[in-house]
Amino acid sequence: MSHYAVTNPATGDIVKTYPQISDADLEKVIESAEHAYRTWSRNSSIDERAALIHKVGDLHSERRDDLAAIIVREMGKPIDQALGEVDFAADIYRYYADNAHEFLKDEPIDILSEDGTAFMRTNPLGVLIGVMPWNFPYYQVARFAGPNVVIGNTIILKHASQCPESAAAIQQIFHDAGAKEGVYTNVYASSGQVATVIADPRVQGVSLTGSEAAGSAVAEVAGRNLKKVVLELGGSDPFILLSTDDLDGAVDSAYAARMDNSGQSCNAAKRFIVIDDLYEDFRDKLTTKMLGATASDPTKDGADYGPLSSLGAAEGLDEQLKRAKAQGATVTTSGTRDGAFFPTAVITDISPDADAFHEEFFGPVASIYRVSSEDEAIQVANASPFGLGSYLFTTDKEQAMRVADKIDAGMVYINVVLADSPELPFGGVKRSGIGREMGRFGAAEFVNKKLIRVT
Ligand code: NDP
Repeated sequence: MSHYAVTNPATGDIVKTYPQISDADLEKVIESAEHAYRTWSRNSSIDERAALIHKVGDLHSERRDDLAAIIVREMGKPIDQALGEVDFAADIYRYYADNAHEFLKDEPIDILSEDGTAFMRTNPLGVLIGVMPWNFPYYQVARFAGPNVVIGNTIILKHASQCPESAAAIQQIFHDAGAKEGVYTNVYASSGQVATVIADPRVQGVSLTGSEAAGSAVAEVAGRNLKKVVLELGGSDPFILLSTDDLDGAVDSAYAARMDNSGQSCNAAKRFIVIDDLYEDFRDKLTTKMLGATASDPTKDGADYGPLSSLGAAEGLDEQLKRAKAQGATVTTSGTRDGAFFPTAVITDISPDADAFHEEFFGPVASIYRVSSEDEAIQVANASPFGLGSYLFTTDKEQAMRVADKIDAGMVYINVVLADSPELPFGGVKRSGIGREMGRFGAAEFVNKKLIRVT
């Protein structure tokens, strides 16, 4: 039985179901990806692969309305944000196309010997499998497929089971852009089939974005089979406020960084860590702003936010909030849950022993902490199993650099939020994952950095 289905979280309607791939067809997909790697990817020029990926980006732009409508249906993203996501995905593809020569150029080495030369050549690895989540169905695929097709790897793509329609739309785009068979193949596979693909000797690596559980399951199979792995997992990003000459602006930034994608971004600001003298004003203003937001129909322009991605996601978040309350935190909410439509919530008085101190809240829930010094802010920020992104607000430039250096995270954004861009590397440390996507580092994961020494 396939679990691939479009279930509209706003209505609960099952719109369409999709059959799971058979083991025999999956074998053909692996063979075809390997064949495409040997025959096309290894023999095509950088310009040919860049042209393909540029076209993939352009087709996202051409089809933006249709593509956006699909993810509104699949996971409830408000339409204006869905359009923004499609545009961002298109920009990522074009960024990797435009920078292909730069990222793949030979890198000379100053050799100690007086005899000859040496350089590093960037070769592809071969067939890769990508396992992708539902929260940004186009963007997540773009940051994996864009660089890797340009490098000369071929892709087997297993999308989230709730995103089969966007998965099919991406496959269609690669086809229409002229990708040879096997260069990019979508599969509706089970977790067991993903393990089979990772273990296959023709496959060289796996990239997964999603939960810690999925990441560790995939990494375990990859480790056993000695395959390269990149993981983008959860986050509980700190938003540290130490000083400001515009508290309302800082609150607006805090709200935006928490509520983008209805609160379901791995790098959303989730823990607000505020210095004593600003704490009460910040808490009151952010609470007012959070509780004033309303979840509404994601197909209409201007929704504050939409439903959560599924009823299951909303029930899970409900359970987390109840547990936070039971463990002594103060939880203030804007109302009660209606199916997948979740009220906003603010949590304060969270004890370090409580689950809420360590867990990720994937929805419109802000946790606020009070600290009395820069050192305590850093200590609370780092007291998390995660280390994805972080946000730091201060008017003191030296303090900004000092604190940025001490935060255990893959990214520090200072006095700015929602500033992700194709050239800026994305990824984390600790339980947030391994490796980087985006920017030049995103084109340096699944490569054979080959030494060529000449005399
Ligand atoms: P999952 O991690 O379960 O799903 C992400 C992808 O991994 C999906 O394609 C899923 O497939 C696949 N997957 C799950 N388990 C396995 C496995 N054992 N082997 C191979 N593939 C697997 O995300 P959830 O929907 O369960 O989300 C739960 C939590 O994950 C969120 O609350 C959030 O904390 C985190 N998350 C983080 C994201 C991020 O951007 N870093 C994105 C999404 C979720 P299938 O759909 O078929 O189960």
